Amino acid sequence: MGRIPFMAGNWKMNRTVAEARELVREIKKAIAGVEDVEVAVAPPFTALYAVRQEVEGSSVRLGAQNLYWEEKGAYTGEVSPLMLKEIGCHYVIVGHSERRQLFGETDETVNRRIKAALAHGLAPIFCIGETLQEREDGKTFAVVERQIEGGLKGIGTGDLGHLVIAYEPVWAIGTGKTATPEQAEEVHRFIREKVKILHSVGFAESLRIQYGGSVTPENVKGLMAQKDIDGALVGGASLTSKTFAKIVRFREL
Ligand code: PEP
Repeated sequence: MGRIPFMAGNWKMNRTVAEARELVREIKKAIAGVEDVEVAVAPPFTALYAVRQEVEGSSVRLGAQNLYWEEKGAYTGEVSPLMLKEIGCHYVIVGHSERRQLFGETDETVNRRIKAALAHGLAPIFCIGETLQEREDGKTFAVVERQIEGGLKGIGTGDLGHLVIAYEPVWAIGTGKTATPEQAEEVHRFIREKVKILHSVGFAESLRIQYGGSVTPENVKGLMAQKDIDGALVGGASLTSKTFAKIVRFREL
């Protein structure tokens, strides 16, 4: 069976509870009737419960933007996988470049988070990608390889569940600069080959690899036409129902 395209909206630190309810209601309306694309939204922690109520009974899935690896305890400010599971999350974003760059995430802490998510039945959206400097230095493949090996270290193929990888070149996030479809495909293909070696051909062929970095209705079709691009992790353009719905409906563009 082919890979079902997967579009996820990362709302980052945007939307109050009331605003989040309104946005997700609008999104539900705007994507009504779409059956061949999976859709998820990842609101801030504070709006998860409200958004869960709104998506109940619909096909829109709920995701969180981060998690801690312990179930409970003296970890002020952190949120555990148990809590995310209880609130109805299906996905959790792990290792976003903003977490790596602004909050000190490393391949090791990303690995711990992925393991914790999987152990609790959450599907990680595992983010990887190079900085502009790394690309200019010709290190893109080496960086992505290191991130995959580090992030998935010690996890058996049978335990990867519904893991998704999001390739997000840091230089393309929130900058309006998108990787060309060819630039993105080259890295996506590399990621799939790497996962084949680390895990299995079967798992790698079923693995969905999203592209992220200034995805808009204008560029989504070209990206989605690539063989190894299976969806998008969308930041800015997911905050407006109209643009996000156009991305979800990329086949109609
Ligand atoms: C993101 O934050 O994952 C992202 C891709 O953001 P944007 O679409 O705004 O570049």
